[in-house]
Amino acid sequence: MPGDEVSRRDFLQLAAGAVGWVSATPVLAPWLDGDLEGAQGLDAGWFDTPMRWVQLTLVENDPGRFDPGFWLDYFKRLHADAATLSAGGIVAYYPTEVPLHHRSDWLGSSDPFGTLVSGCRALNMKVVARTDPHAVRDEVRVAHPDWIAVDKSGQPRRHWANKDLWVTCALGPYNFDFMDQVHREIVAKYKVDGIFSNRWAPQGGDCYCVHCQQNFKAAAGHELPRTSDPRDPVRRAFLEWRKARLIELWKKWDATVRAANPEARFIPTGPPDSKSAGELAAIQFADFQARRGLTPPWANGRRAKEYRSVMGRRPIGGIFSVGVEEPYRWKDSVQSEPEIQLGVAEGTANGMRPWVTKFSGVLYDHRWLPPVERIYDWHFKHERYLRNESPLARVALLDSEQTATYHSGVAEGDRAADHVLGMYHALIEARVPFELVHEAFLTPDRLDQFKLLILADAAALSDAQCAAIRAYVDRGGSLLATFASSLFDETGQRRQDFGLADVFGVTFTGRIDGPMQNSYLSLDDPKHPIIAGFDNTTRIINGVFRLDVRPKAGITFPSPLTLIPTYPDLPMEDVFPRVPHTDTRELYLREVNARSRVVYIPWDIDRTFWDVLSVDHGRLLRNAIAWATNEPSPVEVDGPGVIDVTIWRQRDSMTVHLVNLTNPMLMKGPLREVIPIGPQRVRVRLPAGTRAKQAQLLTLGTPLALTSAGGNTFTFTVPSIGVHEVIAIDL
Ligand SMILES: [Zn+2]
Repeated sequence: MPGDEVSRRDFLQLAAGAVGWVSATPVLAPWLDGDLEGAQGLDAGWFDTPMRWVQLTLVENDPGRFDPGFWLDYFKRLHADAATLSAGGIVAYYPTEVPLHHRSDWLGSSDPFGTLVSGCRALNMKVVARTDPHAVRDEVRVAHPDWIAVDKSGQPRRHWANKDLWVTCALGPYNFDFMDQVHREIVAKYKVDGIFSNRWAPQGGDCYCVHCQQNFKAAAGHELPRTSDPRDPVRRAFLEWRKARLIELWKKWDATVRAANPEARFIPTGPPDSKSAGELAAIQFADFQARRGLTPPWANGRRAKEYRSVMGRRPIGGIFSVGVEEPYRWKDSVQSEPEIQLGVAEGTANGMRPWVTKFSGVLYDHRWLPPVERIYDWHFKHERYLRNESPLARVALLDSEQTATYHSGVAEGDRAADHVLGMYHALIEARVPFELVHEAFLTPDRLDQFKLLILADAAALSDAQCAAIRAYVDRGGSLLATFASSLFDETGQRRQDFGLADVFGVTFTGRIDGPMQNSYLSLDDPKHPIIAGFDNTTRIINGVFRLDVRPKAGITFPSPLTLIPTYPDLPMEDVFPRVPHTDTRELYLREVNARSRVVYIPWDIDRTFWDVLSVDHGRLLRNAIAWATNEPSPVEVDGPGVIDVTIWRQRDSMTVHLVNLTNPMLMKGPLREVIPIGPQRVRVRLPAGTRAKQAQLLTLGTPLALTSAGGNTFTFTVPSIGVHEVIAIDL
């Protein structure tokens, strides 16, 4: 979860936005804009070359106390190709000439940033300078009171963690002018390969400073909103304005950086939204430093998939720290080795390049150094199998930022985010390799690589997005949708009926049931593949909320699963079904054309799965995914445990990553120990037109004998998996 570098999801909560910025104006559907095709193929420049990143974030009293030689030696042992190093912003670690740019009180006549840059260059590493513009000292406030963020009551905002500092306004002259000068100086003086800014967007809440007031009024014609309700039109205009302002800032800093070094780029932590990252970024860093609270270990891989959904083939760095996070932020601590291993393995298996970050040049706890060296050494050794060209997954889950921003659920207790989490976990348990696709990029080019698109309560979809999904189904794609998918438009306004009602084949009656106590599902057709594996029962538990729907005229559906309505759960004498059977379907299955299958599930199967993790709901989802996909999976893995399975193509090879998530600490770190699982029986289908030359297991370091199972399909056994095994097949 987020550490010091602000996470994308946190960022989106701060700066949430949706398509188009002036809400009253019809917006050209962004995925129909030809530029975006180009954006997905945007050239990453030199950023595509490094495979292993390191970051050293200095603290103010490091100069003169820390040993740059120690760090340079460690970078060398990690085979790191690129470094991000503290340069300026809150504290300058070089002799800056920019007025009011605070030099470290310990700097003296030294230049620790310059020393580290030269040392990295000598190791053939690329160097990105890190700045942090979110806070300043009192002398800056005195000189430029208008650079400081202002809270709702009109007071300048003190820093929440260090009362000696003031929080800056991210959208005014401090960033647009002062930090622009700082960035120009750093790139001009050191010819660094890029600038990376931490916490560059508004921090600590909305800003009501004079610049924000004037600029918002000039752009939108309104006073700054006082409500935080995203459905308020002025609030929505504000969110769009803030996003547009950040994009403007990104472009300005990027132009400054490029003017001083044409190969360099500006890279923000946390883009204004995913779409802007897709359009502007040469690289993105997914900031997920450690788990906290109840967090599944696949959360890091999910972040990789989210970025890839807009970045396409461009690189994604997976930031991990080695410390214990949680709300108490022990920044100088060290996690257990298995926990660090699993976090990085999830990132690597999902296509991210490792990017270890450490705060403070002086170490108190050295226990993380050997584990990270072991991880990087493995990565270096197998680099050719980790330089992915494309994922080979055939299933995609829609990532809808609009729904996250503008849809608050259909009832108290219904959160769209929980539907997505439940579906994600069900896909992991089903061992289905899958990708995310983003709502802003629903192009045929992006969608048609998948056989199945899943909408996990993707409630807020525009007409044009519905049209893009409809066209995908017409072209032969299959669809699995749950609950309120497409029942709202892109701003969260409810429609009369689903935007995709014609594709689902059903109409919403307007009634929502729930929360339901003690309701069930009758298994009416044991022979139907959708309810395979439910032996010795005629019913399973229902979800908690359901939308009442009826079939559209002229469309017939099979009826394998029907509603048993809620009945009393107390007193025990009363616990018997009042209506033992209905003909109300709780699953709508259609074969739309020769290739497309559509599953619509009107109840909250995914949300309830996340809530109660019912084995039956997991099985039903797995069966529904298999039925809708209607083609053999590119990889099947049978054996004990919970495994994240991903599958990739490189230039001359393909890989299957198996990450062992099986652990009592699966849903809450830190892991205490590695618990190996195995054996796993694997069946792989090679890409059409390819032939296997040889195969090996990268972690076990053993060759693999492939047994032909007919055609391009091969089977073999992986004897054991500790944390991460990779099946590498040379083609
Ligand atoms: Zn402001």
